[in-house]
Amino acid sequence: MTEIHWMDEVLKRKDDFIKDLQGLLQIKSVLDEENATEDAPLGPGIQEALQFLLHLGEKDGFQTKNVGNLAGHLEMGEGSELVGVLGHIDVVPEGDGWSVDPYSGVVKDGKIYARGASDDKGPTMAAYYAMKIVKELGLPLNKRVRLIIGTDEESDWRCVDHYFKHEEMPTLGFVPDADFPIIFAEKGISDFDIV
Ligand SMILES: [Zn+2]
Repeated sequence: MTEIHWMDEVLKRKDDFIKDLQGLLQIKSVLDEENATEDAPLGPGIQEALQFLLHLGEKDGFQTKNVGNLAGHLEMGEGSELVGVLGHIDVVPEGDGWSVDPYSGVVKDGKIYARGASDDKGPTMAAYYAMKIVKELGLPLNKRVRLIIGTDEESDWRCVDHYFKHEEMPTLGFVPDADFPIIFAEKGISDFDIV
């Protein structure tokens, strides 16, 4: 078997990666329950971002599934065991103080700027491209690999609640989110009302 130069494979796809990531970053996928509909239960922005990733997967030949408009997945490979890669396409509101448009995905000095660039659209798209490279190289897989797309990670986790009511639990998995190479765990979250 010939040696695979992974970095070269990544660099060959760099322009496409940036373009696809910018496409995702330019969607304002903030929870918007006031404008929710049956087809977009978390609002139009989140729905658009979910569809964006599902369409990308479809175009690249992955098996894709929309799970109740609250989550979805892109799958490749074969085997009884399932590797889950869990990303999310919702973002928290952009807030104030930006020096660039938070939904442009502009590249400056080798960095990409947007709400969600590091949490979690960048890592989700990076994981997607890792799968795409393995797929395009035609490497044999003895497991299925599934990118599971969450849509409500920043709020109430209705995405994974719904997803795992209807879909298979992965045998093993990981979560590319926010920091590289690893965040061991988020230790919890508290909301306070101080009176
Ligand atoms: Zn996140």
